[in-house]
Amino acid sequence: MVMEQMDAAVPSRLGSPDGAANGRHAHIDISVVIPVYNEEQSLPPLHQALTESLRRVGKSYELIFVDDGSTDGTFTALRELHRADDTVRVVRFRRNFGKTPALVAGFAEARGDVVFTMDADLQDDPDEIPQFLARLDEGYDLVSGWKYPRLDPVSKTLPSRIFNGTVSLTTGVRLHDMNCGFKAYRRELLDELKLYGELHRFIPVLAHQRGFRVTEVPVRHHPRKFGRSKFGARRFLRGFLDLLVVLFLTSYLRTPLRLFGALGLVSLVLGIGVDLYIVLDRFLPFGSHQEIHNRPLLFVGILLIIFGISFVLTGLQSEMIRHFAYRPSEEYSVRQRLDHEDRD
Ligand code: UDP
Ligand code: MG
Repeated sequence: MVMEQMDAAVPSRLGSPDGAANGRHAHIDISVVIPVYNEEQSLPPLHQALTESLRRVGKSYELIFVDDGSTDGTFTALRELHRADDTVRVVRFRRNFGKTPALVAGFAEARGDVVFTMDADLQDDPDEIPQFLARLDEGYDLVSGWKYPRLDPVSKTLPSRIFNGTVSLTTGVRLHDMNCGFKAYRRELLDELKLYGELHRFIPVLAHQRGFRVTEVPVRHHPRKFGRSKFGARRFLRGFLDLLVVLFLTSYLRTPLRLFGALGLVSLVLGIGVDLYIVLDRFLPFGSHQEIHNRPLLFVGILLIIFGISFVLTGLQSEMIRHFAYRPSEEYSVRQRLDHEDRD
């Protein structure tokens, strides 16, 4: 019964103007989602390589290109591919929204049991697809590519190593290449991912936190042939701020007062201790009898008390948000069900 409900939910989730077209095909094994931003030259060779690899795999598939507001001939190229090949589907954004929204749009359209994501710039090699499928067959829910050796300029690979190292260390999800665009997902994982901003960089961490089994496979990587990289140096500062978000989301999101309250109480106790010391030092017989208002330490104490109280209040407010945003289904993630009709 539960499964029926889930199936029924699919068309309404897709409830877009082309929803009817989605219903036409019964079942698809593999969806490949490709975010595209100004990659006109790469598209025809990418389409050809993908088609060859997927035909060799021998399963039913669809290619979902998401044109993220390209300003070059990308959409014209996609229209050509769409005309010539009925496995091709295209979603075109009104403007450039970014890679995360492009992936989210692709996921919402994807109907395959397995969903791949891949960059459009020919840096990922579609011949690796069987490797990913093999790992999924072993029982993993998310297989992430590891570009090795990575053929990008040092200005990119070095910050990326620092980023990956920090993320592995702080989140405990040990992957060499978190943000590789080449990944394979089991469908049900995607329904539980909440991606916004630029959180696509942390998909393995978010999936791991929901209890999904995550692994990586080394994949061949090619240098960029056409066009330019869309991500500059700025992404690293943003990436680290996002890491803070992810650390919070995956740890104290559900019990915020435990974080803010603990910080607040420590600060409060320290502050009271410091100020108490100044007062006792002034009045007790064995103290130094310095005037309270002459002691800079007084302000340290006052600040600690104020920080302490506001941390506790922040924690309580977060608990209030948590309370009103409560959704039972988000409290857990189901791996398997054995229901009445599953008995045979
Ligand atoms: N991309 C996108 N929207 C953006 C930026 C990038 O859809 O705003 C796509 C881009 O077309 C490519 C993929 O995301 O298919 C990865 O981008 P890029 O190759 O520039 O990243 P890099 O490999 O340099 O990290
Ligand atoms: Mg690239």
